[in-house]
Parts: sequence; structure tokens; C-alpha cells
Amino acid sequence: MAHKIPTRLYLAEDEIPRYWYNIRADMREKPDPILHPGTLRPASFQDLTQVFCKESAAQELDGETRLVEIPQGLQDFYRAYRPSPLVRAYFLEKALDTPAEIYYKHEGTNTSGSHKLNSAAAQAFYAKEEGLSALATETGAGQWGSALAMACAFFGLGLTVYMVKISAEQKPYRKALMETYGAELIPSPSDTTEAGRRILSQDPHTSGSLGCAISEAIEKAVSTKSCRYVLGSVLNHVLLHQSIIGQEVKAAFDKYCIKPDIIIGCAGGGSNLGGLIAPFMGEKLHGASRTRFIAVEPASCPSFTRGRYAYDFGDTAKTTPLIKMYTLGSGFIPSANHAGGLRYHGMNPTLSKLYHDGLLEARAETQRDVFDAAAAFAKTEGILPAPESAHAIKAAVDEALACKKAGEKKTILFGLTGTGYFDMTAYMSYNAKTMTDYIPTNADLEKGFASIPPQPEP
Ligand SMILES: *Cc1c(COP(=O)(O)O)cnc(C)c1O
Repeated sequence: MAHKIPTRLYLAEDEIPRYWYNIRADMREKPDPILHPGTLRPASFQDLTQVFCKESAAQELDGETRLVEIPQGLQDFYRAYRPSPLVRAYFLEKALDTPAEIYYKHEGTNTSGSHKLNSAAAQAFYAKEEGLSALATETGAGQWGSALAMACAFFGLGLTVYMVKISAEQKPYRKALMETYGAELIPSPSDTTEAGRRILSQDPHTSGSLGCAISEAIEKAVSTKSCRYVLGSVLNHVLLHQSIIGQEVKAAFDKYCIKPDIIIGCAGGGSNLGGLIAPFMGEKLHGASRTRFIAVEPASCPSFTRGRYAYDFGDTAKTTPLIKMYTLGSGFIPSANHAGGLRYHGMNPTLSKLYHDGLLEARAETQRDVFDAAAAFAKTEGILPAPESAHAIKAAVDEALACKKAGEKKTILFGLTGTGYFDMTAYMSYNAKTMTDYIPTNADLEKGFASIPPQPEP
């Protein structure tokens, strides 16, 4: 095929971005600060370093530095799997018979299988530099735990992963992967922490929850010498690390003179979406572009489209700082949805602010429609997408079909956050047509909203 734009848009060595981009620096209206839950005052560096690594805490609080240099040791690690492929979806375009140009940025080529490695590697790098010897975290679906296990193995750190018990049982291969990288994997709740023992004494047969796993990981981090807690989404420093995705796309698009009209990402806690859109949103904030940005979330866990913009806790156990964000309430329990990585009650505070100010759109999709799009993508482009990623595919397909109807030639970019090899149970239920959708009723949502704490005085 002789296309003017190649199927893969490569970057030469000297074109690879060496800086993360901090979107907050270009926002005239900044997101509201995160608050200490006890004092309700903005959380300080000292507050955050009780739990987090120093550099993560500093980056979390830094809304001013525009470009942050990626440390050399981390750039070296990134080179092993980056730049990630930026692909023109010629086959999908043809199948849809659309005049639209569709591109996707494929973050699933590393063994952990998703974009989460970009921040896992950064956080492990900084922890090592700080002189720590171990990290603790939780994982739900297993992608974050896998990414962090890989990063800790590389940078020489111990790792304890509290994995929601039901996931550990349902996804034995995820567990094996983490253990191969040397992580200690503990199904949560466990008897290794106070928090775990308390929950087990109330309900010995509980299948666990992300909230409980977070509490266990934090307790482990603060009670272990030279150990800190790390988080794989939601927070601003994670978004900063993920901006490598958008920086690479921007460099390649500039090289080929491509201007995206629409950029689409799936949204769980918001890290891949925030990282993908960052440099393009920066242009929009400067009035230099009219790109539309679309967040896609599951209809079963609709933080943006049906949530409230309020200060809320990041975890079910209500131990984290208070974050101003779109939230369903930390007590919201989403129905079992296979896109595990999107089952989070809240949303990154920077994206929440952009959404609140009308700079970002959002839509919610049901699971079966999402898997239809996943199957169409697998058949045409050949890649088996993660269920989370397929939310973005669904919206990209819809936008491309809208272009066809209107006879418009738009340029659409979406984030393909990961591959679906560890999600075959979900594909099995899709293929067997036993997959169901549950859209929460308003009464369901009210129960979650009731868990949002009283709002601090402005
Ligand atoms: C975790 C995950 C997501 C959602 O997380 P964000 O922080 O919203 O990016 C999306 N896709 C995959 C493959 C994931 O593992």
C-alpha cells in the first residue's frame, strides 16, 4: 500500500520527547487543592510524604512547572518499550466506509499490557533514588499491580501487592505474572494488617474490595521501614507521568502536519485520558486549537456523566486526602463490570475541573456495545483490546460513522490503553451472549452520594 501517511508514525531518536507536560501550569483556573481530611486545610508536602514518595508528593503539589524533565535513568527504561506505536487505522476506516481518518496510540505492547507502566516506572525510579527499599500498593483487576511489579523488579525494589481476593481467585495468571517479577501477592482482606483482620472478623467469607485493599496497602507502607505507598491513577502526578503518551503523539502529528479534530480516551481515574490529551488541551487553553476531547466511561460507573462535583475521599475506607472531583461517592459500589480498570467512583481533579469548565466532553457506554466495538476492532486491526480500551474504540467508531453520515473528513485519535489477553473471561461471556449490563438507578446513585462528606466552607 502506498499511503501518504504511513500506517505507523515513527519518531527518530532525536524526536522522542524528553519532558512530561504539566497541564495545570497552563490552566488559568486551577483545580481546587487536595485537603487534609482532619484539618480541611490544603494538604502539605509533609502530609503527603507520610504515605507517598517525596518526588510524587512534590509533583502532586506543583501546579506551576510546565515541562518536567524525565530523569535519564527513566528515559533509558522508557526506551525499552517506547515510543509506543501510533497507528493509522486504515483497515477500520475501510470497514466503516468512513471519510474520517482514525489514529490510535497503542499502550499495550509492554508485558504488563497497559499504559500503567509509564507511571509505575516513574514512581519506582523516584523511590529508588530516595533510598527506599520497598513499595506497597493495591490492585483490582491486576493491571496496575503487574506494571508496578515489572518496574520494581527493574529498579530493584521489594513490592507487596494487596489484590482484591475475588480478582486474585478469578485471575490466577495475573497473580502468577506479578510473582514472576518477584512481587509478594496477598489476597485482600488478609490477616497481615489491622484493617484486614477487622474486616475478616466481621465477614470471614468476604470477596474483598478495592477500598479494603487500599487500606491494607497504606497500613503496610506506613508500618514498614523504608516503604511507601504508590497509586496508579487519579492523582495529578500520575497524570503528569502519563503525559508521555500525548507528548509522543504531538511530536509525531507535528512531524506529519496532522491536526486532530477529536481525541477520545476511556476514563477510570483519568490517567491515560489526561496524559493523552495534555499537550493538545494546552493548545486549546491558549486558544490555538478547536480540538474536541471526549471521555468515555462505563454506564455502570458514570462518574462524569451522572456524578457530583464535590470534595470526596479517594478510597472506601475514607483515609485519603479529600479531592475535589466528579464522584459517585466513595461508598458507591459499581455492579460487576468486566472493565475492572474503569470501576472507580471518582475522577482525576484536573480533568474534573476541565470537564466542569466545559473543555472536556463525556459519555457513558454499556458493556455489550463496547464489546461489539472491541470485536470489530480485533477483526480489522488485529489487536485484541482490553475491555477498558474498547470504551474509547466504541466512541471513535461512533464519531467516524457520524462523519460518514455528514460527509465530513475529520481526524480522530483514540487511546488504545491495553490488550485484553488477561480478560478472556469477559470475552467468553460476550461470545456466549451471557454478558449483561447494569445501569444504576437514581436510587442506587443516591446511596453513593450519601457517602460524600460534608463540604468544607469555601
Ligand atoms: C487502569 C486502566 C484504565 C483506566 O485507568 P485510567 O487511570 O483512567 O487511565 C484503562 N485501560 C486500561 C487497560 C487500564 O489498565
